[in-house]
Amino acid sequence: MNILILGSGGREHAFAWKLNQSPKINKLFVAPGNAGTAEIAKNIPIGVNDFDAIKKFILIENIDMVVVGPEDPLVNGVHDFFLNDDEIDHVSVIGPQKAAATLEGSKQFAKEFMFRHQIPTAAYESFTSESLEKGFSFLETLTPPYVLKADGLAAGKGVLILNDLQEAKKELKSMLVDAKFGNAGATVVIEEFLSGIELSVFVLTDGKGYKVLPTAKDYKRIGEGDTGLNTGGMGAISPVPFADKEFMDKVHERIVKPTVEGLKMDDLPYKGFIFIGLIKVGDDPFVIEYNVRMGDPETEVVIPRIANDLAEVFQAVADQTLDAIDLEIDERSATTIMTVSGGYPGVYEKGKEITGLENISDSLVFHAGTTTDQGKVVTNGGRVIAVTSYGNEFREALEKSYRNVEKIKFDGINFRTDIGFDL
Ligand code: ATP
Repeated sequence: MNILILGSGGREHAFAWKLNQSPKINKLFVAPGNAGTAEIAKNIPIGVNDFDAIKKFILIENIDMVVVGPEDPLVNGVHDFFLNDDEIDHVSVIGPQKAAATLEGSKQFAKEFMFRHQIPTAAYESFTSESLEKGFSFLETLTPPYVLKADGLAAGKGVLILNDLQEAKKELKSMLVDAKFGNAGATVVIEEFLSGIELSVFVLTDGKGYKVLPTAKDYKRIGEGDTGLNTGGMGAISPVPFADKEFMDKVHERIVKPTVEGLKMDDLPYKGFIFIGLIKVGDDPFVIEYNVRMGDPETEVVIPRIANDLAEVFQAVADQTLDAIDLEIDERSATTIMTVSGGYPGVYEKGKEITGLENISDSLVFHAGTTTDQGKVVTNGGRVIAVTSYGNEFREALEKSYRNVEKIKFDGINFRTDIGFDL
């Protein structure tokens, strides 16, 4: 099988690492990839949204399957692009079609889906510039904090949580009238605030059956103790210790089953990952958001805990025979620590030489923002390298990850030293 992975982060390196272990793989490509994927696959300098160039490449290299890492190409309809072109409609795509990808592309769509299928989530109403006054009135009926969400994709920055009513009104106006988040904020979802602890559940579906993958918890803030600005993710742990069997049974019955059934009922074809962002309120799960792809850095702890041949699993998704697969989960914990460039998530420099990677032997190294320059591995993004370790218990895994992270050197390196502090 020849596989092309779209993306360039730690998530895509983790996919490539896992797929590379499969005897079923003939050729493995990553577009555009990073310095880590270049070691185990062939990087192709094609952007993830350049569908015409992707098509051309697929025909030249006889690609059988495309695994889509990030949400952008999915929301832009990459799967539909394949299905609608008879030169490439034989190629399997792991990732939903555009209609279902709207679960991530529009928060209002996702909320309507959840309410239609009685999936527990925060109460909400949505507003546009025409209904600004109604939005103000709705805010007045709520108790703080106020949760305002730009409907569309805003690179994780479109959600505001505010304590002051006047400020909430001001922000609502600036989203709806002054286009603070551009078109993504032309509709704003205002939600009831839910207080609890967050975790992520991942489901792989072929549109008929599904498998629940290991749970994970990620750490989004840049600062120790979950403070400071949001990032793409500073670390992750799998499984989530507080997601015990009783809680997961609720997640399964109240959320996973009705989500997969809902997709079928609404005629939303789906072959790929569903990332369900949850919040545990008391003992009950509520959905915060759907993403239509794996998380990053959660992939770097979830994929290493799957013992199956990933190419076989993906093929079963493509063939809609996932029910026949017995998913084998490694019982050990996995943790990952993300090293980031100095200044990230604000302004940072690129091109810093990275050394010490060769000294890491008992952890997995997944590259994110890296590239090669004259034979050297250098930084090429905000999030740079994730160090994943196994342990019989998450603290043991964390100890290993931290011991190895210390070996990585680049100018300005930063990482959180308290991943798992709240568990
Ligand atoms: P991401 O960066 O995870 O893609 P996003 O922009 O898609 O985020 P959400 O996941 O919907 O937006 O919200 C971002 C964060 O805001 C959540 O992880 C959660 O911490 C907080 N949040 C969102 N909705 C609520 C809510 N109803 N109650 C409490 N906190 C919330």
